[in-house]
Amino acid sequence: MSEISTKCVQAGYSPKTGEPRVIPIIQSTTFKYDTGEDMGKLFDLEAEGYFYSRLQNPTNDYVAAKIAALEGGAAAMLTGSGQAANFYAVFNLCSCGDHVVSSAAIYGGTYNLFAVTMKRMGIDFTFVDPDCPEEELCAAFRPNTKLLFGETIANPSLKVLDIERFAKAAHDHGVPLVVDNTFATPINCRPFEWGADIVTHSTTKYMDGHAATLGGAIVDSGNFDWMKYADKYPGLTKPDESYHGVTYAERFGKGAYITKATVQLMRDLGSVQAPHNAYLLNMGLESLHVRMPRHCENAQAVAEYLERSDKISWVNYCGLKSNKYYELAKKYMPNGSCGVVSFGMKGGREAAEKFMRNLKLAAIVTHVADARTCVLHPASTTHRQMSDAELIAAGVPADLVRFSVGIEDKKDILADIEQALAAL
Ligand SMILES: *Cc1c(COP(=O)(O)O)cnc(C)c1O
Repeated sequence: MSEISTKCVQAGYSPKTGEPRVIPIIQSTTFKYDTGEDMGKLFDLEAEGYFYSRLQNPTNDYVAAKIAALEGGAAAMLTGSGQAANFYAVFNLCSCGDHVVSSAAIYGGTYNLFAVTMKRMGIDFTFVDPDCPEEELCAAFRPNTKLLFGETIANPSLKVLDIERFAKAAHDHGVPLVVDNTFATPINCRPFEWGADIVTHSTTKYMDGHAATLGGAIVDSGNFDWMKYADKYPGLTKPDESYHGVTYAERFGKGAYITKATVQLMRDLGSVQAPHNAYLLNMGLESLHVRMPRHCENAQAVAEYLERSDKISWVNYCGLKSNKYYELAKKYMPNGSCGVVSFGMKGGREAAEKFMRNLKLAAIVTHVADARTCVLHPASTTHRQMSDAELIAAGVPADLVRFSVGIEDKKDILADIEQALAAL
């Protein structure tokens, strides 16, 4: 199968004759073997197979294989959440004393993971404005830098990453580029085609698409040459004594990075996705290629409508010609970006709160990026502990409303916005 739409529906699982047509939920923590020796080979990584679902489970592996196919990667794994995916993706390459360069335009949870929790583990982060001049980006790298990190479309700032520029900067400094591709999804952007080495996802968003289940994924392109920088990545290029001296980059080739993350990080930290959740995620993936164009079409209509309204002071959506990222978005996401639009109310915080109360179809939830249109006012919810000045510094001014446009009929979505604005 060559087309991404077909891969959404069918990749990752091909049953043999008489087997279930739909990916089965293998709801078993453990797997049976005829002899202890058979099982011992699995523990030594000498044979492939399942023994305990904290490390690997067939349902999860079918779904991970589908996501790898969608991104055009060599190997993938599922995690229990997007947070776990980003943590594992970075921690698989870093130890205490190492350094990471990251775009400052990233999801708040990821920022906190990096700047607070991973910092406590002795890993240092330098955050750069993704639009900063070349010299500033290059100056952020240090001899102990292990990777560069960014988001295709940043949540919630909606900045678009210049993936080629970031990939070049990473490779010039001998490190991989890791891209969180949650908002674009592989339907709209495949970062590997632009030089990224590793992709992460919060599958909780569009991939599941129904706000039904938390999950994450990590995909490796298999393109980064760890052996070329053997001293920098000893975890991949030197023997692992916890697995009888296996050297991942030698033994597993393009699967080295994901194998290491599975057998070390999943083994020791255990943020595994439940097989039942992976089954639900796959249900979402089967319609991802049908849903994403609809999200984008509806969001474009909402953004254009809001831009014309005299009650709105600004609209941020990279599908608008007026947007700073319009050209970049056209280059990396020619078929559309995502369904999330943010905008500012002329009446500030008070008008934003009132507007949201007036909405009938769009529901107030903290979630984004699912089938149902939803809305959030960060200043009175997720960021309510901040002063107005702090909100501006964080890029979420008090007038900002984040609107996640669903796949309902756009006539109804626009009518809801119209009546909510009219009642102000
Ligand atoms: C939501 C989100 C995450 C975190 O994912 P969870 O599944 O909520 O843990 C990471 N990155 C981005 C871009 C997100 O939107």
